[in-house]
Amino acid sequence: MSAAKSFDDFKLNPQLRRAVEDLGYTEPTEIQVRAIPPLLSGQEVIGIAQTGTGKTAAFLLPILMKVRYAQGTEPRALILAPTKELVVQLADHATALARHTDLRITALYGGVGPKTQIATLDEGVDVVVSTPGRFMELYLKGALKTKKIAFLVIDEADRMMDMGFMPQLRKILEVIPVKRQNALFSATFPPKVEQLSAEFLEFPLKVEVTPQATPARQVQQTVYKVPNLKTKINLLEHLLADSAFTRVMIFTRTRQNADNVFKFIERKKLGPVRVIHANKSQNARINAVNQFRDGALRVLVSTDVTARGIDIAKVSHVINFDVPILYEDYVHRIGRTGRAFSEGEAITFVSPAEEYHLDKIQKLIRETIPVSEIPPGVEITETPFAERQAMAREIDDQRRQEDPTFRGAFHERKGKGKVKGKRR
Ligand code: AMP
Repeated sequence: MSAAKSFDDFKLNPQLRRAVEDLGYTEPTEIQVRAIPPLLSGQEVIGIAQTGTGKTAAFLLPILMKVRYAQGTEPRALILAPTKELVVQLADHATALARHTDLRITALYGGVGPKTQIATLDEGVDVVVSTPGRFMELYLKGALKTKKIAFLVIDEADRMMDMGFMPQLRKILEVIPVKRQNALFSATFPPKVEQLSAEFLEFPLKVEVTPQATPARQVQQTVYKVPNLKTKINLLEHLLADSAFTRVMIFTRTRQNADNVFKFIERKKLGPVRVIHANKSQNARINAVNQFRDGALRVLVSTDVTARGIDIAKVSHVINFDVPILYEDYVHRIGRTGRAFSEGEAITFVSPAEEYHLDKIQKLIRETIPVSEIPPGVEITETPFAERQAMAREIDDQRRQEDPTFRGAFHERKGKGKVKGKRR
């Protein structure tokens, strides 16, 4: 099979071809070149590709090509994704690609009452994009008919596994027809995902566009070693004073840090800024992402829980205010810069207690991230006692993780008086 150089080579129907043109895609990306022809020919595919590679259209185009036009009332294609944000975004992408067809595409996710979603299903749908939980819920209510489902895509499979969706996926596989075409997409391919794909794919073709867990090449990475939280804030203020930071995503480990960073940026008028985390309503989260995508915001602050998979084109900078604890999130986060065809910079703030995690990340990506000096204009504050204690405790725990016989300063105090600034 000679590789397609142009969208014309896929022999898409004219409606889809036109939508691709409307979206301004001039040539297919690598994952599209390699995954679309086998999917169109009916083969099962495992796609290892990060967001930013064009992987979504790589599975959406073949599915839309196959379901073709509105038919009956029961869904014929199912796309599963781990978070509401991702589901909404996938459905939006599918709707954009299907704009010249009469296909009915719907997004199903929890956190809102099921009534509207049930009403939409009753009217008839062709393609369902759903989180696993809501899918089963609606199925069990009898609102979702599964007999006609002939295509299944599991997107962000690694995240699904991290979030513990395996039991739900197994249940879903039991209630949809056995005879169907499957595809699985994942940014990384850890053993858990390999096991999942072995369970439900038949003789899949594995298409990998970047080596496992290797950050997008266009992204320049930097680390700052920062002694404490206050200095992180000072450094952040210094960086945001630079007008080259036009569209910035900031990631934090906790909701509390997300809120604090947000408030600080707002107070210093370094925005416009919004914050998303699990305590924000579904609508607030979607609105913030949309505003950011539309260019109405300079900064979007997010915890890692809400962050992954959100598709935001042309992010100038990613700032990891805290080092991600799920190391693969680092790869995902920096995958937000240098989207399909642009460049970006990823900056990570590392406290003494986080060096351990930075080390693990560098092992995972098989790279040493260059360390930059804290710029002279940034005030380096004294670390408060409570924060110092909390970090020392964390470092003890990390050592013990590596060496169970290690007895740190805090070993004996387990269960006794709580140290302020306690670990999550
Ligand atoms: P994805 O990796 O699917 O999240 O896509 C990342 C971004 O690339 C999205 O904004 C897509 O709309 C865009 N995109 C996908 N395919 C192409 C293409 N062939 N040419 C240009 N942009 C694309």
